[in-house]
Formats: sequence, C-alpha cells, structure tokens
Amino acid sequence: MESLLRDPDTSLCDSTEAEDKDESIRSSHIFVSSSSLAEDKTHPKYVGIVTLPNQVQQKAVKKGFVFNLMVVGESGLGKSTLVNSLFLTNLYMDRCIVLNSRTVSITKSTLDIVEEGVNLRLTVIDTPGFGDALNNHESWKAAVHYVDQEMEKYRRNEIGLNRKNITDNRVHCCLYFISPHGHGLKPIDVNFMKALDQKVNIVPVLAKADSLTPKETCNMKAKVRRRILTEIDKFKIRIFQVPECDPDNGDLFKQQTLELKRSIPLAVIGSNTVVERNGRRVRARVYPWGIVEVENPSHSDFVHLRNMLIPEEHMQDLKDVTRETHYENYRAQCIQNMTHSASDLPVPLMPVDSETERLIWEKDEEVIRFCFLIRFFYLFN
Ligand code: GDP
Repeated sequence: MESLLRDPDTSLCDSTEAEDKDESIRSSHIFVSSSSLAEDKTHPKYVGIVTLPNQVQQKAVKKGFVFNLMVVGESGLGKSTLVNSLFLTNLYMDRCIVLNSRTVSITKSTLDIVEEGVNLRLTVIDTPGFGDALNNHESWKAAVHYVDQEMEKYRRNEIGLNRKNITDNRVHCCLYFISPHGHGLKPIDVNFMKALDQKVNIVPVLAKADSLTPKETCNMKAKVRRRILTEIDKFKIRIFQVPECDPDNGDLFKQQTLELKRSIPLAVIGSNTVVERNGRRVRARVYPWGIVEVENPSHSDFVHLRNMLIPEEHMQDLKDVTRETHYENYRAQCIQNMTHSASDLPVPLMPVDSETERLIWEKDEEVIRFCFLIRFFYLFN
C-alpha cells in the first residue's frame, strides 16, 4: 500500500497526506482517481471499486423494496380506483400480485409486486369515510395518529433488540385528494394538510379531473391549480418538492421532471376499465359524449403521478425525505421531550398482535426505561 501511494511514476495517484496534531495519531487522506483502470482489471493498480454500485444494487434488489403510500381525501373522490389503476392494472397481467388486506380503523392493503426479479412491497393506507361525518373538524386525527404510530414503532425498533429485522412501515407519501367541485381548498383540506405536512410528504392531486367538460378542463385545471397553490402558500402548507435534476441526468428525465413540477397539483383520472382504442388497449372512462383516456397527457396527469411513484423516478426521493427529514424531526422531537421530562414520553404504541412481538416490545420498553434512568442519573448527579 505504502509503495503504491508513494510511487513517483504513477500518474494515477494524486495523493495528499496530513498528519494529525496529536502525535499519537497519524492520519492520512489519499485521493486516487482513474477512469482508464475501469476496463483493465489486470492492471496492478486496479482496486475494483467500480463494481461497488453493482454490489449495492444487487443487495438492494435481493432485499426488495418497500413503499408505503397513504391516500387521503373525501369519500367518493376516486381514491381506490386511482390506486388500483396505478398498481393493480390488468395491463400488467404477467406480474405476480398477492393481495392481502386487513381492516383496522384505517384500511391497509399490501401488494407484493414482482417484476423481472425485482420485488416491491407496496402498502396502501386508505382513510375511508373522511369527510362523511357531520363534524369533520378533527377527522385528520386518525391519519396523523397512524403516521406517528409508525414513526414511533420504527424508532423503538431502532433502539430495541430487533434492530436487524426492522420493517419500514413509515408513510413515505400521502396522496391528498382535492375535490374538483370546489374552487380550491376547503377548510377541512387546509386542516388536514396542515396537520400532516411536517410528518409526511404530501402530494396534492385534483381528483376526477374529467368531471369538467373537455373544453373546460384545460382552463379550469390551470385556474384551480393556481388557486390551490396560492392557498398552499397562504396557509404555509408544505408539500413534497420534486428535487432538481442533476446535471448528468438525461434530457428526457429533465423534461419529465420539469413537466411534473409544473403539473402539481396533479389532475388525475382513475379507471379500471380497459377499452380498445385505435388498435391499442387503454384504460379509459367511457361516456356518452366520448372516451377519456387515463394515460393520455392531454386528458390527465396520471402518467406524471405514476412516473413519480415508480422506483425509476421519485420513489427513492420520497423515501429519502421521509428518512432524512420527517423521521429525523420526529426523533429529534422525542429526544427533546425525553430530556425535558420523563412523563412527556413519545406517542404510546398500540397493543401488538403476536406473543413474540409482545415479548420484544416489553424488552424494548425495559431498555427505554433503563435509558431514561441512566439519563436522569447523569442529569441530577
Ligand atoms: P373512494 O371512496 O375515494 O375510494 O372512491 P372510489 O374509488 O370508490 O370511487 C367512487 C366513484 O367514483 C366510483 O363510481 C368510481 O367509478 C368513480 N370514479 C373514480 N375515479 C373517477 C374519475 O377519475 N372520474 C370520475 N368521473 N369518476 C371516478
């Protein structure tokens, strides 16, 4: 290693060496860069780091991907239809899809999607009936509670005994459905988004965009969008910001990202009906006056939404923001609460199902209590 780094002939090594001020510690920082070595594996100075991305990719593929999507909005706005259109379409018959759903106060459905050896476990968290009650004042509470619970479970797992097998159930994206019949956001929309925006990535969608006649659609979409964006700004609601492209991203990706940014809130149409159109099989809504194609960009922003959610585009961005911003904020809040008072504990968890889970949970509780005791011991001594 020494000889490699100090080799005066090498044009591949650009090295700098710095000694630490502390005599007992010697540290060095060497920068080695070569693009020509990538092909020549027999070169004596070939290290092999070029294969690292492949290794990371292989590991990630083997492990599979997880994505948790929450859909929120008034009942009847087409949430289920849209989710089915997005992920359960019969245009992808060759995919293996396993569906198992469990009904709690919030409906949670899990789909295992396998495509060319890549597994995606998609969990859709539906909030049925929101907006149906006479008093909808606090209807956002169940959704907020769910998001908090999953953050808390993850946090406890992280500091608990079962760190190795943590399942990520944190909500990565919340599709917020806005009614096309209003003229913007209703007070309940504002309350809901305001309650969630610090905890989860909100992507607003304008539901049933075909409710407007074809002529009105273009004008109204722009008008409603402007209004919604103004209201979002007025009430300081934070929605998910699609990241800027890297300079090395392809032109097509840059163009798609630009269009996606311009299209938010996305005006969407959902349908599970497949019709024959000019020799193509397309998903569409059939009306006496014509056919609205779900995937036709001049009819709806469905394609933008699907592109945003698929792993190829912004699924990882949504997960990164969840991990780096929303989860870190939650963790920081918990630590702050803990250092201020022992009674101000984070969100209490719901009872768990299995005996094993219960035992792990109890052990984790013990560990947390023990940590508290140590912290207080140091605080007051
Ligand atoms: P949810 O209660 O929000 O889940 O709504 P559903 O998905 O159950 O849809 C309620 C009704 O709206 C159904 O009759 C759907 O066929 C219809 N629907 C769903 N999506 C659309 C859409 O994009 N446009 C129109 N016009 N109707 C839709």
